[in-house]
Amino acid sequence: MNAKILIVEDEPAIRELIAVNLRHAGYTVSEAETAEAARIQLDAGLPDLVLLDWMLPGQSGIEFARKLRAETRTAKLPIVMLTARAQEGDKLQGFDVGADDYVTKPFSPRELLARVRALLRRASPEASEDPIEIAGLRLEPATFRVYAGERTLELSPTEFRLLHFFMRNPDRVLSRTRLLDNVWGDHVYIEERTVDVHIRRLRLALSPGGHDRLIETVRGGGYRFLPR
Ligand code: CA
Repeated sequence: MNAKILIVEDEPAIRELIAVNLRHAGYTVSEAETAEAARIQLDAGLPDLVLLDWMLPGQSGIEFARKLRAETRTAKLPIVMLTARAQEGDKLQGFDVGADDYVTKPFSPRELLARVRALLRRASPEASEDPIEIAGLRLEPATFRVYAGERTLELSPTEFRLLHFFMRNPDRVLSRTRLLDNVWGDHVYIEERTVDVHIRRLRLALSPGGHDRLIETVRGGGYRFLPR
């Protein structure tokens, strides 16, 4: 599930440095040189997070952040401000207009990535690293482990994400499209029956403890994870 990040930065070298590092870390990246160009991209679709330079030609990053916060659609969009100014007062102004975090240039790519990860985690509780325990199954996102009682189950990364999504949404009918959106992310080239293949594998992996019965096929609807 690669999160989408929009970088709004007028300096090409810095923008490129950030873009390369984010892509390398697995994020989907789009770029804008100005607030106006960013606006056009946001109108077309919302990213999961915006990295916003403070000093931009035309509308400043601060003004832009203020506007984004004022609009319902973008009010909760996670924003990290980028700036060369290190003064404490400016920092406070950044938080004042609603930036969620603040990184001062020059920054290390590692530091930026850490901030991005932390903010994405805070922003989407769904992607939380908290262990989940349902009906004797315990899933630990942080270690990528699943336990059925004392037994460790062997799951591939896709089956793990699938089970994680099921366990976050127990007792709900989840369509194949919804599963593709959330487990596969960008799935333009994936067929819906791929979901069935992975469900089959997941059930097989869960079967030693009898937990395969927790995944119910809903005729014409998709699948449901039974909470008991
Ligand atoms: Ca700038």
